[in-house]
Amino acid sequence: MFKILKYLKKYTFEIILSTLFITLQALLNLYLPDLMSDIVNKGVIHGRINYIIHVGIKMLLITLLSVVAAIIASFFASRISMKFGKDLRDMLFRKVMHFSFHEIDQFGTASLITRNTNDITQIQQAVFMTLRMVVQAPVMAIGGIVMAVSKSTHLTMVLLVSIPILLIGFFFIIGKVSPLFRSMQKKIDNINRILRENLIGVRVIRAFARTRYEKDRFEVANEDLTQTALRVYRLSALIMPFVMFIMNFTIIFIIWIGGIEIDKGRLQIGNMMAVMQYIIQIMMSFVMISIISMFLPRAGASAERVEAVLSITPEIKEPRVPIVIENGKGIISFKDVTFYYPGAREPALKNITFDLYPGQTVGIIGASGSGKTTLLNLLMRFYDIKEGKILIDSVNIKDFPQKVLRKRMAYVPSRPVIFSGTIRDNIRIGKEDATDKEIIRACKIAQAWEFISKMPEGLDTVISQGGTNLSGGQKQRLAIARAIVGKKDIYLFDDAFSALDFKTDANLRYALKNQLKGATMIIVSLRVATIMNADRIIVLHNGEIVGLGRHKELFEECMTYREIVLSQLSEEELQ
Ligand code: ADP
Ligand code: MG
Repeated sequence: MFKILKYLKKYTFEIILSTLFITLQALLNLYLPDLMSDIVNKGVIHGRINYIIHVGIKMLLITLLSVVAAIIASFFASRISMKFGKDLRDMLFRKVMHFSFHEIDQFGTASLITRNTNDITQIQQAVFMTLRMVVQAPVMAIGGIVMAVSKSTHLTMVLLVSIPILLIGFFFIIGKVSPLFRSMQKKIDNINRILRENLIGVRVIRAFARTRYEKDRFEVANEDLTQTALRVYRLSALIMPFVMFIMNFTIIFIIWIGGIEIDKGRLQIGNMMAVMQYIIQIMMSFVMISIISMFLPRAGASAERVEAVLSITPEIKEPRVPIVIENGKGIISFKDVTFYYPGAREPALKNITFDLYPGQTVGIIGASGSGKTTLLNLLMRFYDIKEGKILIDSVNIKDFPQKVLRKRMAYVPSRPVIFSGTIRDNIRIGKEDATDKEIIRACKIAQAWEFISKMPEGLDTVISQGGTNLSGGQKQRLAIARAIVGKKDIYLFDDAFSALDFKTDANLRYALKNQLKGATMIIVSLRVATIMNADRIIVLHNGEIVGLGRHKELFEECMTYREIVLSQLSEEELQ
């Protein structure tokens, strides 16, 4: 049925144990009314105290045994379901870690979070309940019927009326509840999404005075979930009273008919009492079955959602025969690369061809949306290309193991990502075993030391989540320090100097050029000043290269470049 159940296989032994103990418990419980009927028939009626005590002790012992069996069974059932949940969370997390950006977008972050938390909890609960009830219910129901028939076939016939009524009721309730359970998962997704957007965008929301609007939006989603949940629980709350109603009627009926039979001497009192007990057990087992059939569809919906993530084969695949080259230099070649974002009609990059050599500093400039970030994403293989080739040292990047490829590069994204932890922790992401000396050197190159050294705790300063206690420029410089702390062949800066003032920007580029000799540096910027001294400049316009060369040549020959330059620099600066 569900593929994820195959991951339960490794718990087979524990599942068998739990099942055995549950069966034992059910059988012991079936034996109790039988003993009770003996006490009444042979003890109470004849006034044999000794017999009553004797059987009574037996009943006590059996009850104790049954309690122990129930505890052991529960112990295993909880263990199995919790471990299974942990396995699923691990698998899901690992899977998502290997997703390309495209695959993450496909599900959405909020939904991936719900799937890894709430959905797995549902599955976990369903596994627990199934282990507890799926075996117990049939044993109790069938065993109960057999025992009841052996006590009085006549009285047991009542079940022929009450069980169909019970089933019709259950079908009605479950039929209504199941679809609601499914839609509840989607509504939880929705709440998570709104909450996430709000927490991330809290500054923008306040700045634009959208708090009221966002509150309403959340309220609508929250109300929606509440209403659905209320309907679910209202309907499920009907089950118990309904069962009690039918059960009590059945018992009244049994006492009525039983009374007549006893009167005529065709039935013993003890047997009638036993049948009553069995009927209670049988009906309870039907309640269990109905509860399972209500929760299983919900868990089923969750299982489908988890499976949908697990079943994805990441589109970025590791090469079958990976190529490893020692001492690669870092020559980058794009050969006629055209790239469409999944589902996009226009290409984000068109016929891109260029070669970059080690030791060069390359500037990429172009209006926003011209494809600069896309170009870097492709070079790091965050997306796979279908047309054209990207080579590093003459090897297609698809032939490198991804880890090897990305280890050769350092990347500073346009929006710096800072993790919670100390400054030292954040920089060490770039090189796990970096010494303080290396870290300080990186900070100095990145022009970050100046503000870090002023902090009372220096490298040990704790940064809050998302780096909210740093300014935009400080975050950028920290991200740069992280990128350059390890030695790499290729350094990619995606608009990474945008929050720096011109002087810091210039100092930083000077330091980079001096300290990272021999490496290829790609600097993406919207600011001419940042890239005009580069060895080569690539001018992008609507995903195409419209100019490639040095500042002087481009200024003469490339209209787009000339326009950008004139819009940013004054006459004197151009001299
Ligand atoms: P730049 O970095 O030069 O501002 P980008 O490379 O980010 O530009 O974007 C180039 C084009 O690709 C834009 O038209 C943008 O709308 C589109 N684009 C960027 N990222 C995505 C994405 N994840 N999915 C679909 N289209 C995208
Ligand atoms: Mg960009």
